[in-house]
Amino acid sequence: MDIQENLKHIKSELPEHVTLVAVTKTKSIDEIMEAYNTGHRVFGENKIQEMVEKEAQLPKDIEWHMIGNVQRNKVKHMAPFVSLIHGVDSLRLLREIDKQAKRNDRTINCLLQIKIAEEDSKFGMSSKEAQEILQSSEFSELKNVCIIGVMGMATFTDDEGQIEQEFKNLKTSFDELKALPTENCNLKTISMGMSGDYELAITCGSNMIRVGSRIFGERNY
Ligand SMILES: *Cc1c(COP(=O)(O)O)cnc(C)c1O
Repeated sequence: MDIQENLKHIKSELPEHVTLVAVTKTKSIDEIMEAYNTGHRVFGENKIQEMVEKEAQLPKDIEWHMIGNVQRNKVKHMAPFVSLIHGVDSLRLLREIDKQAKRNDRTINCLLQIKIAEEDSKFGMSSKEAQEILQSSEFSELKNVCIIGVMGMATFTDDEGQIEQEFKNLKTSFDELKALPTENCNLKTISMGMSGDYELAITCGSNMIRVGSRIFGERNY
């Protein structure tokens, strides 16, 4: 696996409006530095502890994205530096992020994770719940979070038609949220697509993809 070649190749084929989050979970500092040395600065991890440990050892101009499921009691560890939290699935979690952001005297950007897959194992809220949150008075009082879009994961299946439909559903959810009159929001990001399906995701409206194995190779857990 040539990390630098893979990364350059993927980026050379991406439309300009699409942001690539290089997913580094389980990968070493040296491997991340290989990607960093091509000029790439946007990296994603799915565990807070692992991200915090890597952040401490790596250059400070990296933009760290938390792409995994977030445990509320760990938000405080990433609050000083995290640049975008993709997996926000409740108002309760948003409240904690707001509190920790305020302590660090900053605003933290978040995506609402919408459940688009059939499987029960995929986290997220319904489109309706997302709309209710954005329209709630409680949310309008959270001044240290900013919702900048949505995130979703398609079902793990070979059925491309199903994946495409799920991606389209996320795009529709995004459009509906964007039509709401809301505060604390600047809806512009649709985070969908991974190594196996990001090309399809982009044709369905994604402008942020999260790619791990196509850059760094398969993961050994
Ligand atoms: C691991 C992970 C990815 C990247 O997966 P690949 O198939 O290796 O590209 C994307 N999104 C989330 C939420 C992940 O946990």
